[in-house]
Amino acid sequence: MTTSRRLTLQCSTCGGPHPHRLLSREEEAAAKRQLGLRAVYDFWICENVVDTDTGAQCRTMRRWAATRPFPKPVKLLPPD
Ligand SMILES: [Zn+2]
Repeated sequence: MTTSRRLTLQCSTCGGPHPHRLLSREEEAAAKRQLGLRAVYDFWICENVVDTDTGAQCRTMRRWAATRPFPKPVKLLPPD
């Protein structure tokens, strides 16, 4: 059985439906540190390209069931 790791979801930063993906194991660990949360398994990250020159993606995080899980949109910080 295969499970899709990509979904089109609303992004609170981009303001519309955009492709999202689940976090990698490394990103889950980083998100837990960044947010001070113990569980981020239902977090999805926006893959919308916000800079066509660099290909940089939005990286705003949301929960599967909540477009706005935080008071303000939170982006996963890029790895060091
Ligand atoms: Zn976005």
